[in-house]
Amino acid sequence: MIEISNLTKVFGSGDAATTVLDDVDFAVPAGEIFAVVGPSGAGKSTLAQCINLLERPTSGEVIVNGESLTRLDAAALRRARRRIGTVFQSANLLSRRTAAENVALPLDYLGVTKAQTRARVAELLDRVGLADQASKYPHQLSGGQRQRVGIARALALRPSVLLSDEATSGLDPRATDSFLSLLREVRDELDLAVVFITHEMDTIVKIADRVGRLDRGRIAEQGSVVDLLLDPGSELGAALRPSGS
Ligand code: ATP
Ligand code: MG
Repeated sequence: MIEISNLTKVFGSGDAATTVLDDVDFAVPAGEIFAVVGPSGAGKSTLAQCINLLERPTSGEVIVNGESLTRLDAAALRRARRRIGTVFQSANLLSRRTAAENVALPLDYLGVTKAQTRARVAELLDRVGLADQASKYPHQLSGGQRQRVGIARALALRPSVLLSDEATSGLDPRATDSFLSLLREVRDELDLAVVFITHEMDTIVKIADRVGRLDRGRIAEQGSVVDLLLDPGSELGAALRPSGS
């Protein structure tokens, strides 16, 4: 379970202060996929950075399984951040490392033995269907394969939350569908709370249980995808319906 509570992010100060996130509130229980949608500049990536605490929120809280991460000191935060796995746009893999070495990255910092790392990486790559691609470098993989490596790396530390920022942007429809199936499978297997950030409405209809619309830093509307689709008065519902229907 992840709860985002009254989250605000202001960049700069004085006359130059810009409020990029304004009192954002939502909660995602284990086993649920919550999508965040919004136009370019709405604050989606800033929200992602605040959720995994790469950026410190100006105010408000990020609470995972009842523990507020925003109140922890640096050392405790480093440990707590393991509960959130992140998949970025174009996976953000290190280009000079193989798929296996990329998946091993989060484990390298933990002092686990080489043998344990090797076994865990093999298990993860197998889980995402890439057991035979372990020694390839990112440029030798397709976009869809890179995103699967990204998922494997995000799951390395057995998180309870999976955060994804535009993970399917740039993938063709087939690679997108296969990524979404994998996401659903690991959500079910690991009972993950998933925060799925995207600007693609059709992807949300395929994957999300609930969705929130971010507009200039505020959650303007949120609800279950089914309810929104059926609500004739909802702007988000209208945007989610395939055009022409
Ligand atoms: P996109 O769909 O294009 O990825 P987004 O919704 O992810 O957009 P953000 O990247 O979160 O949008 O940016 C939201 C706003 O915050 C933008 O106006 C951006 O200029 C501003 N912003 C982001 N990071 C910073 C920063 N470090 N300092 C100042 N302003 C920032
Ligand atoms: Mg973004």
